[in-house]
Amino acid sequence: MNQARVIYTGWSGWEVRALSYSQANEMSECGKKFELKRISGWEEKLTGASLKFGIACENAVVAYLAGGVDPVKKFDSEWETWKNQELSYSSKDGDWEHLSGVGRGLMKEFPRQHKDRFAVIDGGKCFFQKKLRYSEINQGGLWNGVDIEYIADCIQPNLPILLDFKTASASYPEPQGDDLNFIGWDHQLSIGAWMSGIRNVGFITMVKTKTPKIQFITGRVTDEAIENVQLWIKRQLDRILNKDFTREIGFKFPNQHCTWCEVAEVCIGSPEKALAAGILTKKVSKSNDIESQINALDALEEV
Ligand code: SF4
Repeated sequence: MNQARVIYTGWSGWEVRALSYSQANEMSECGKKFELKRISGWEEKLTGASLKFGIACENAVVAYLAGGVDPVKKFDSEWETWKNQELSYSSKDGDWEHLSGVGRGLMKEFPRQHKDRFAVIDGGKCFFQKKLRYSEINQGGLWNGVDIEYIADCIQPNLPILLDFKTASASYPEPQGDDLNFIGWDHQLSIGAWMSGIRNVGFITMVKTKTPKIQFITGRVTDEAIENVQLWIKRQLDRILNKDFTREIGFKFPNQHCTWCEVAEVCIGSPEKALAAGILTKKVSKSNDIESQINALDALEEV
């Protein structure tokens, strides 16, 4: 049986054969970051609270939409899991208690907003977390035999519309007038539109402000936006296949992504200090623990 082409071999020895939006996006932000995280296995020691909070909110919203479950209760049970775990909190996120209040506020607001503004999203008729895969095996086209993968948060096939759920610290700027269609140019949604064939797209954003807010912005993906995102994917793919993991130095260094880069200490700081302080860790494959640890120490010398 034919298999998709290997794009790269990850830190665990796993051969990656499908390019996802998040891989392409990370490569687009910085090739060095992609290499350090996905190939060398560097990661923050503590998981970001913001990520876990976003997953808890999204699971609660999906449980509500799909099965009428009380989203506050669902959020509480999901978020409780992290109460006594070590997570890293940004200054805006504060601590577990603070995010607990924000999450409960958002989950109280969601059903009201759903009833008033986006009741068209009928959970009983939606697909949630729908995996889409574009396979180029035997097609020999733009992607050199590589598969492209996308997971759609929500597809309502009857409208039809494709949606992405997000949590954010601030609202998106609201489009002014019908002509501004910036959501329709979003890379993530454009990939989803291309792969699903659904051109109406939107973000449902749970905004973590003091007064929790749910923002619903929609747009339409054009042929031009799809061509644009395909070229963007192709650029990232070519760089990965060519092992072009250069730092995004440009005329300004550090670049804007360096300020929130999880692996900055390895790239431009002191990896030894970061390891000693327990800020960063290096994942190792179970099959070659000892060898990888030796390699990790060698890599420290090289960076
Ligand atoms: S610190 Fe900046 S240049 Fe280095 S990996 Fe991170 S984003 Fe890239």
